[in-house]
Amino acid sequence: MSKLDKITELLYLDQNHSDFTTCLNPPLFRSSTLVFKSQEEFEAANKPYHTDKTYGRAGTETVKNFEAVMAHLDKAHGTIAVSSGMNAIALALMGVLQAGDHLLITDASYRCSRRFVEEQIVRYGIEFDYFPPEPTAEDLEKLVKPNTKAIFVETPTSGSYEFPDIDTLVKFAKKHNLVSIVDNSWATSLLFTPLELGFDIAVQSCTKYLSGNSDMFLGVVSCNERTYNEMYQAFLNFATIPAPEYCNLALRSMKSLDLRIAKHEESSVKVAKWLVKHPKVAEVMHPLLHDSRAHTTWKKYFNRANGTFCFYLDKKFTWKDAARLINNLQIVKIGLSWGGFESLINLFDLRERLDAKIYPNNFSVRLHVGLENPDDLIDDLNNALNNL
Ligand SMILES: *Cc1c(COP(=O)(O)O)cnc(C)c1O
Repeated sequence: MSKLDKITELLYLDQNHSDFTTCLNPPLFRSSTLVFKSQEEFEAANKPYHTDKTYGRAGTETVKNFEAVMAHLDKAHGTIAVSSGMNAIALALMGVLQAGDHLLITDASYRCSRRFVEEQIVRYGIEFDYFPPEPTAEDLEKLVKPNTKAIFVETPTSGSYEFPDIDTLVKFAKKHNLVSIVDNSWATSLLFTPLELGFDIAVQSCTKYLSGNSDMFLGVVSCNERTYNEMYQAFLNFATIPAPEYCNLALRSMKSLDLRIAKHEESSVKVAKWLVKHPKVAEVMHPLLHDSRAHTTWKKYFNRANGTFCFYLDKKFTWKDAARLINNLQIVKIGLSWGGFESLINLFDLRERLDAKIYPNNFSVRLHVGLENPDDLIDDLNNALNNL
């Protein structure tokens, strides 16, 4: 199947399991216990040492099927499915780092990733430094230390939707022999394949676009050959496992991923083009707007976008004004997450960022454009903005 386009692969990759030849769709396997015909067969299931096919915690057929599909899409040596995107990030970092190591992480990463480094990894004797959202090689060279072990990147960055130059990051990581990790949740395996560009590890929250229905949690860690074995040991030792139900739902949702992303993209461009013209809006960070700061680097690595972007209100508007704005929306819901059928909005405080001055306001408004008719969303935003 190697010559098929990803869009076609999304439909059929899960059918590699031949046990149920008459059913189009793969069955759901739920089992904690795995049973064996003999002690010899049981022992063989655990070879080479600790690969662990002896217990359901390492994954039933459903989980393994999902992992194999994701590994294929991500061009990974192996993919490990875990309970959530956040657990994928925690596993990737803890699987790579040890006491005495130093980590470089983008200052503009997902808030829970920031909390994880600020509050957890420091307890285990690991240091970290933030780097700017779109770093130059010089920015990075200033921060690297003899004990720097890994670099953690987001593209685009959470809350501010900036696109770093991937070549700069990968070249830097290779020069200093760092393990490079990227959070690929925004793009999904459909829009971007970081391992092909030289990253060692791609994590993804499948809770977002891959699921598309806002009704499950799931994460993956896709590894190249260099990093897989050690990561798999870490997974067996402490990661939280995914529910087979959610892996099954992910395989189901995957079949409409291309269609949904195309619709989210089309509608979000319409909304973004309308927002950019509104006098109360200072800037719209949508990669498909040619004048946007997000456009230039995005087009170097991507040819599609989705429904998730941010905008800035004019500087005269405060957080409280913005709160009134979003309270006045009727269709767009207030809440975290993105990638589901529903349009969602939330405010992002940027004051904790190292270089908060680069933003046109000290908070951004993140908008996920759902599957509603975009004209209804524009009406909704128009009413709320006019009441501001
Ligand atoms: C939501 C999100 C995560 C965490 O995913 P969960 O599945 O909700 O734990 C990780 N990274 C980014 C960029 C996210 O937006």
